[in-house]
Amino acid sequence: MTEKAMKGPMAKRDPENNIWAHSPAKTEIPDDVIFVDLLRCTGCWTCSLSCMTGNGLPDGRYFVNVRTLGSGEGIDRPSGTWPDLRMSWMPYYTHHCIKCKPRTEAGELPYCVKNCPNKALYYGADAAEKIEAARQRGARIYQLPEWEHGKDGVIYASPDREII
Ligand code: SF4
Ligand code: SF4
Repeated sequence: MTEKAMKGPMAKRDPENNIWAHSPAKTEIPDDVIFVDLLRCTGCWTCSLSCMTGNGLPDGRYFVNVRTLGSGEGIDRPSGTWPDLRMSWMPYYTHHCIKCKPRTEAGELPYCVKNCPNKALYYGADAAEKIEAARQRGARIYQLPEWEHGKDGVIYASPDREII
C-alpha cells in the first residue's frame, strides 16, 4: 500500500477510540500483507514468542508485541470497576519485522501467523480474503498511522465491539 493511499479523504479520525482510521481499497492491499483480526485476538503473546524463537532473537526482543487496550496501566490490566471490566488486545508489528521473507519465499507462513492459536493472523492471499470478509461483517479496516512507526502492510479489522 502506498503512502499516498493512506492520506486524503480515505483517512478519518475515529471519535470513539482516538485511533486514526483508514479504509484501504481492496486493490491497494500488498501481496505480503499481514491481517490482524482483533475480534479473535486473546492477547496470548504466542505470535511474539514464536517470532522470537523462530528468528533467533534474544530473550525479550520482539518484532511484534501485544498491546493491552484496557486501563493504560500495563499489560493485561482492564479498565472499569469490578465486575464491569473491559479489555482487548492489539498485536503491534514493529518496523524491525521482516515478514519472515526466507520462510514466505519458500512457501511457508510467517512464524507469528502459523502459530497464532486463535486464527487472528493471516498472510498474503488468505489475508486479502479475510479482510474482505471482515469488511462484509461491518468491521472497520485500518492501518496504524505513520507516527506509530510500525511495519508497512499490516492491516487490522476492529472487533465488532467497542475498543476501550
Ligand atoms: S494475534 Fe494470535 S498469537 Fe498474537 S496475541 Fe493475538 S491471539 Fe495470541
Ligand atoms: S512476520 Fe515474521 S518477522 Fe514479522 S513479526 Fe511475524 S514472525 Fe516476526
